[in-house]
Amino acid sequence: MMIRAYDEIIRMLKTETYSKLDSSTQILGVSTDSRNIAQGNLFIPLVGEHFDGHLFVEEAIHKGATAALWQLDHDNPPQNIPLIFVKDTLVALQELAKGYMKQIGARVIAITGSNGKTTTKDMVASILSTTFKVHKTDGNFNNQIGLPLTLLQMKEETQFAVLEMGMSGRNEIDLLSRLAEPEIAIITNIGDAHLLQLGSREEIAKAKLEILNGLKQKGGFVYPGDEPLLENMTDLGYELPASTKKIRFGKLGANDLYPTNIQMEKDGITFEINHSQHWNYYIPLIGKHNVMNAVAAIAVCKMIGTQEKEIQRGLKQLKVSSMRTQKMKSNSGFTIINDAYNSSPNALKATIEMLEELKGYRHKILVVGDMLELGEKEVELHREIGRLLDPQRIHHVFTYGSLAKEIGLESLNHYSPGNVKLFDNKEKLINELIHVVSQEDLILIKGSRGMKLEDVVHELKNR
Ligand code: ATP
Ligand code: MG
Repeated sequence: MMIRAYDEIIRMLKTETYSKLDSSTQILGVSTDSRNIAQGNLFIPLVGEHFDGHLFVEEAIHKGATAALWQLDHDNPPQNIPLIFVKDTLVALQELAKGYMKQIGARVIAITGSNGKTTTKDMVASILSTTFKVHKTDGNFNNQIGLPLTLLQMKEETQFAVLEMGMSGRNEIDLLSRLAEPEIAIITNIGDAHLLQLGSREEIAKAKLEILNGLKQKGGFVYPGDEPLLENMTDLGYELPASTKKIRFGKLGANDLYPTNIQMEKDGITFEINHSQHWNYYIPLIGKHNVMNAVAAIAVCKMIGTQEKEIQRGLKQLKVSSMRTQKMKSNSGFTIINDAYNSSPNALKATIEMLEELKGYRHKILVVGDMLELGEKEVELHREIGRLLDPQRIHHVFTYGSLAKEIGLESLNHYSPGNVKLFDNKEKLINELIHVVSQEDLILIKGSRGMKLEDVVHELKNR
């Protein structure tokens, strides 16, 4: 966590206007949320669409903040409170993060992509933690606010920062990458999440490639070799310097790293890389897509020069973030897989493939909610999922929401009507599910964040 005297903060912010400030006082971290201010924090009021942190400056000081920033375009700053005046509080947050980062000198691994960012980040961090002091993005703190906050929470002794970079439009990853200046950048994949904002997969690819904009000289780039859009990056306006180390990972043998001999186990997967028995790994996760995330993580660690046995150990002891293919038993004994964190066509396809491959259950039931933010192709993208579903391998389909309904309707072309049920009410869905499910069954639950399908998970778990 950033612990610095106020005179240093003022220097980092390049400002000369402040009031009532004892510049020798040390700040004990920063906070942008007045609801959970810690003693000694510097409060940074951000200006959002629906709220303005400046309204809470006095409250923050009252709760123990030793000073606050104040954006110059805001009138009537409170008197008698230690304030530092800046042009833009968000930019100031980012500048502080950058300044602190420079002083710590941690090596940075940056991860973007349509799916698998959090999982890959957790894997890289788990491996590097076997050897180094590692700081990683907490959960999903991956945007222009979350990333600087992540950096400012770093301990002084941090050697590696493993950072997730998320986006919903162009120029967002650009800012994050220039801020963090990664030594290695990873793109996990190019999917179709955020089609609404970006319009095409090419635009999505360009937005992800912005992660190269802050890459250090002689840095490394790990990317999916099976993705045609990345075959010719020059077409997308990117020229990689010859000094950039590259590792392409993917399913196909033409890649630098590809998984072989993939074996599903009850609660995990074993695999090798490039047919080498020396390069064998176990991940405590289900779903083949996680093998791809692991191969990307391995690529990074090979670039860094991590010992083979540390890579194996780090992957084996991985702790998974919640709501991402989280397996659990209900009180009455049926199995639930909670994948309610988020959804998009690529991610849902990967999850369906995983569900199809899982063995040892009498019936498998898919509870699927809307995939949001897909733009004008949204209906067709849902229908496509409906066509993919195989009644021999996924026995019941329960949909929730008006778009997911399209999945159900499309699947009715090859499912018996009794096995597809459409809902727009969670309570009714749960009641019907309870009616259908028995002890030996598996229910998988997935939908976009806005659908909040964890409500269904929590309710089912207690049944
Ligand atoms: P977000 O953009 O919501 O932060 P993320 O990129 O961090 O997502 P994760 O949280 O790691 O992704 O995984 C979310 C879901 O995406 C998983 O539960 C799974 O359904 C799917 N997923 C993860 N990795 C892959 C992959 N490599 N390919 C396709 N789908 C994946
Ligand atoms: Mg994430």
